[in-house]
Amino acid sequence: MAREITLTDTRTRKVESIVPSTAGILRVYACGPTVYRYAHVGNLRTFLLSDLIRRVAEYAGLRVDLVQNITDVGHMQDDQLDSGEDKLLAQARSEGKDPFALARFYEEQFHRDQAAIGVKPAGRYPRASECIGLMHEMLRTLDAKGHAYVGDDGTLYFDARSFPTYGAISGNRLDQLRPGLRFTDPVDAGVKRFHADWALWKHAGPQREMVWDSPWGLGFPGWHIECSAMSVAFLGETVDIHTGGIDLRFPHHEDERAQSDAAVGHEVVRHWVHGEHLLFEGRKMAKSTGNVVLVADVIDRGYDPLALRLAFLQGHYRQQMNLTWDAIAAADRTLRRWRAKVAEWAESPSGQIDTGYLTRVLDAFAGDLDTPAAIIALRELERDQDVPAGSKFETFAHLDRLFGLDLVREVGRPSVAAELPDGAQALLDRRAAARAARDFAAADTLRAELAAAGVVVTDTPDGQAWDLH
Ligand code: AMP
Ligand code: ZN
Repeated sequence: MAREITLTDTRTRKVESIVPSTAGILRVYACGPTVYRYAHVGNLRTFLLSDLIRRVAEYAGLRVDLVQNITDVGHMQDDQLDSGEDKLLAQARSEGKDPFALARFYEEQFHRDQAAIGVKPAGRYPRASECIGLMHEMLRTLDAKGHAYVGDDGTLYFDARSFPTYGAISGNRLDQLRPGLRFTDPVDAGVKRFHADWALWKHAGPQREMVWDSPWGLGFPGWHIECSAMSVAFLGETVDIHTGGIDLRFPHHEDERAQSDAAVGHEVVRHWVHGEHLLFEGRKMAKSTGNVVLVADVIDRGYDPLALRLAFLQGHYRQQMNLTWDAIAAADRTLRRWRAKVAEWAESPSGQIDTGYLTRVLDAFAGDLDTPAAIIALRELERDQDVPAGSKFETFAHLDRLFGLDLVREVGRPSVAAELPDGAQALLDRRAAARAARDFAAADTLRAELAAAGVVVTDTPDGQAWDLH
């Protein structure tokens, strides 16, 4: 694909052309999960962003070196104040588990969820707890260069005022930032020098779990240092793209940028790319509001998890998206229809890729990941009477490298619709809808009706499947 790839850069506030700093290799760092709970579908929308960037770049012939961190230590409950309990320790206590065992469990689930929505694995997934030495190395440099100081509480802090371009990503310049609440502000308590300074290495205090020895005493890393240390260690002093959800702009990425750039001596990240948040049924997705949807919930309702991916692709990553169960159901129907049609087209005389539609889709992906436009093109191709079936098959199959929707899944399987007895498809559709609405009694009745007609239905993680008897 000899076309320019562009993305919106949060720091420059412009759509930028993406040209790797080393010819042929795109280095991408994706802020990963904090593994103290299941990732919700909002988190997954953000994780999809680096997958899409990777697919577009690979399609263009680049080798993509993608690193995604696993935060298993050091993420405070209240990141604005660098205080409160570590999220992992708090959760481990509430579940009565060892914090590392808990972290490994949720890390495993994270990989499963990513695979379920078609996110290809990153090249490396460094764990914060296993990169403490790398963090110390960077902290020593920051200390030696005069960017760090030890506060009265024994914690090592970054001196925000020592980094003049602080605020470039979020626009939160130091002179405009308001100090935190008086009661909790460590500046008032005489602990740190300036309200915007943040913890680099926290003094252990009474904490006895997840603590390490360091040149600044027993303690644990501040949340932001892991990404600085790992990105520079694993990708080098220049990272082409750094991704994350929009909430990470501040303070996480602002602090990370200050640390990395101050340590290395130049701008480390060339492009900061952020995905907007996902709402569900109009509400913010948060544990506190009880509005958390997991991949497992989507599967439980009988939907293919890739329906989620299709639903995400129908919005632009820079736009908030309000996902609904109806939208997932609709995406699920579209996906099943496309797969059935692709299988049907595959049986037709072979054809060439349709270059008109190919160009439209490639241009859409390369142009700031305009996935909604790419999906519209696919819908039009599906209906276009002038394109022979064999060409439709080739084009859908080829473009699935970018879409990642497993569109060829049904190819070569016995043709479905043709074999079903009369009226059975309608019963199957009604049963899928009943399951989606969690009306399991109705679903059971419909299963019995189908069985009487010779159609045996089973429920799988990919939705209902059937066989003829
Ligand atoms: P966490 O596991 O909390 O560290 O978050 C993982 C990623 O999910 C981060 O990049 C967040 O910015 C992102 N994120 C959190 N909530 C949402 C949401 N509702 N929609 C999209 N991304 C989110
Ligand atoms: Zn990060």
